[in-house]
Amino acid sequence: MRRLVSVLVALASLGFPSTAASAVALRAPGDAVAADAAYAHVRRLAGRIGPRPAGSAAYRRAASYVRGELEALGYEVARQGFPLPQGGRSGNLVARWPGDVEARLLIGAHLDTVPGSPGANDNASGVAVLLDVAAAVAVTGGPPPGLVLVAFGAEEVQPGGQHHLGSDAYVDRMSAGERDVLEMMVSADMIGKVRRYIVGALQGTSRRAARILAGAVRAEGFRASIRELGDISDHGPFALAGMPAAFLWTGWEPNHHEPTDVVRNCRPGALLRGREVLLRLIEERLS
Ligand SMILES: [Zn+2]
Repeated sequence: MRRLVSVLVALASLGFPSTAASAVALRAPGDAVAADAAYAHVRRLAGRIGPRPAGSAAYRRAASYVRGELEALGYEVARQGFPLPQGGRSGNLVARWPGDVEARLLIGAHLDTVPGSPGANDNASGVAVLLDVAAAVAVTGGPPPGLVLVAFGAEEVQPGGQHHLGSDAYVDRMSAGERDVLEMMVSADMIGKVRRYIVGALQGTSRRAARILAGAVRAEGFRASIRELGDISDHGPFALAGMPAAFLWTGWEPNHHEPTDVVRNCRPGALLRGREVLLRLIEERLS
């Protein structure tokens, strides 16, 4: 950063125009470094690994990457397996800080894609932000107690029409006590666009979690509108079981579920925003 500043100052003194473009360049490097850490996860998942439907070898590679990243940060990662309707199995990855037993705030992002789509926006974006947030709170000596981070498997519709199998399996295995303790669940799904956030509440259920999440978005200076939506992401099973749950989303876009949902379809700036929103939420709910 400092070196770039002095280069720009030197260029300006040589008579290069000092324009708005220079001002952008001066401000950009710090953000670029932070965004790059998160964007590297998108490059790995959507670029190198590519489409990772439930039950595929690519899904297992993606899960092993995410698990390795979380363990390297100091998290304990448990795999929660479940059967797929077409045969075979998939799994969620559940990360907690060692010794932290009560899950009060759960942030989840699905790791699978539909067949044939590299899934950069849907949903390497959510997983990248999840990993980035995990890193941000780990370096300060660990997250505040009560945080659980989950990479969900098999969110997308499977042959036979079922979806959200990973989040369903997670909710099924929660005890009554665990359901009582969980104050809020957030599904970060398709957050790779720099746009107004849509904060979803499942139709016919409480909007409380959506209001809290929209508050965190606005507190970071971004726009959010709360919408009642159908069961379109992993917050669904939690909300249906009576737990406060919300969906963080940057909206529909034409590359969704297409082979064109490639790395560049996810914007680094959107990952930075997602990180700020979720860190704000963690700070507000758990500190
Ligand atoms: Zn998705």
